Amino acid sequence: MFRFIECATKACKGIIPLHLLNWMIDMKQDIRVRFAPSPTGPLHIGGVRTALYNYLFAKKHQGTFVLRIEDTDQIRSIDEAESHILNSLEWLGLSADESVLNPGNFGPYRQSERKKLYRHHVDQLLKSGHAYYAFDSPEDLENMRMHEKEAGNYTPKYDQRIRLKMKNSLTLPVDEVNRLLEKGENVTVRLKIPENETITFSDRIRGEVSFKSSELDDKIILKADGMPTYHLANVVDDKTMRISHVIRGEEWLSSTAHHVLLYRAFSWEDHQPDYAHLPLILKPTGKGKLSKRDGAKFGFPVFPLEWYDQKEEEQYAGFKEAGFLPAALLNFMVLLGWNPGNDEEIFDIDRMIELFDLDQINKSGAQFNYNKAKWFNEQYIQSMDSEVIYDLIRSDFPTGDQSFVLKIIDMLKPRTTFLNDFKSQSEPLFYPPASYDKHMLKKKYKHEHKEDFQHIATMIRAASPDRDDIEKAVKRYIVDGELKFGAILPVLRIFLTGSMSGPDLFEMISLIGNSNSADRIEEGIAFSSHIAVNG
Ligand code: GLU
Repeated sequence: MFRFIECATKACKGIIPLHLLNWMIDMKQDIRVRFAPSPTGPLHIGGVRTALYNYLFAKKHQGTFVLRIEDTDQIRSIDEAESHILNSLEWLGLSADESVLNPGNFGPYRQSERKKLYRHHVDQLLKSGHAYYAFDSPEDLENMRMHEKEAGNYTPKYDQRIRLKMKNSLTLPVDEVNRLLEKGENVTVRLKIPENETITFSDRIRGEVSFKSSELDDKIILKADGMPTYHLANVVDDKTMRISHVIRGEEWLSSTAHHVLLYRAFSWEDHQPDYAHLPLILKPTGKGKLSKRDGAKFGFPVFPLEWYDQKEEEQYAGFKEAGFLPAALLNFMVLLGWNPGNDEEIFDIDRMIELFDLDQINKSGAQFNYNKAKWFNEQYIQSMDSEVIYDLIRSDFPTGDQSFVLKIIDMLKPRTTFLNDFKSQSEPLFYPPASYDKHMLKKKYKHEHKEDFQHIATMIRAASPDRDDIEKAVKRYIVDGELKFGAILPVLRIFLTGSMSGPDLFEMISLIGNSNSADRIEEGIAFSSHIAVNG
């Protein structure tokens, strides 16, 4: 199938535009993609984008989205990381069709449970001469690096030249090899990179990519602890899980040359997947890859869900805890590296699936702009039904009175960026101010209006609870008394909520309730008279 597709691609090149050809080919294939995180830490926002693009591509082509846990690095793996990844994907709605939670026919979906399979494949490569045993200790490797550097080779690696100077089954006599194997110390297996070749593969985003074999090192494929390395496990799994497209971050581009060689060594060329290496997500400054530290530095989350880093003893808030809606976060993320080719910007997941196109992904890095993420969240919150918002955050309110809370949500919605804002912004509606903005109060409150505020309080107490009626009454009082709006309204706001900011004043009075509002105004007068006297 893959061979046929490759031929078809070559034959049609120049006649049909490449992206159309790719699309036709994708439509024909049984699409299986995978997101393959290593549980060495929490799911990062870069991983979210990789998962999202894989998900969209799978759904667009009625394919299968696989989640594979790549936990071969037992030392760096963290127990909680796997559940962070799974929970984050669930919160985002990017649950996999096949995973450790719902295994399909190609399991296990955790690499640590596939050890036997890897050993079998490594033996195959040893037999065919594509791999060899190496017995170098960490000190041997360190010495080699030191000597090479002294000789002017500043980036020493275990390559075709160096391998001949080291302790391995290519340089040692058979007896010695057998003895060392028996001893079992520092036994690793390395991939034997062929000499003088150019390894070329085509990438859906970058076009044709080539590496000279002389630039590649003989990567370890089986470690001394019997675990495979990423390269071997990744390729064996992609092949045995029938992965058709590998969509992953740009940092894996240079590994792909090794992967292509592995496909060749196994005689699996016909099964080599299509590659698509996604552009980096850059820091807000546009320089360098976005990292975990940038979140703390610039004040935004970099994980979908909160994470406690045990080593650093540091708690990181996630996008969820910051008050993001998963749909808004996905909408923001999908545009980090891809665009639909027009100015459409807001898409729900179905529209994303419809529009998403692997061939429209940019090559250059995408700058992370947190303000844009916030903007998307605002757009989503504002267009959501208040009932839906209520269901999400009902427990944030100290009352079960749904119709009252719905009124609050309606009032706050236009000025809300985060879901959490509803709780913080509605607090003044439930509780009298714990303190006042003294600075503003001193500036705005004039003792000569004490009586006026008293009158307004009495008037509000007696008025109807209707917002418009309250507004009319208060404004008529101000106009009739030839007072200034600026001398009265800001002060009323501070009396009611403690601060100058907040939603519509009269709507608030109506929601706080006439009598509660009047009480607050009276308390405010008492407090202000006190500071007017005592300074
Ligand atoms: N385990 C690798 C990672 O953590 C996967 C890279 C790939 O998708 O091949 O990102």
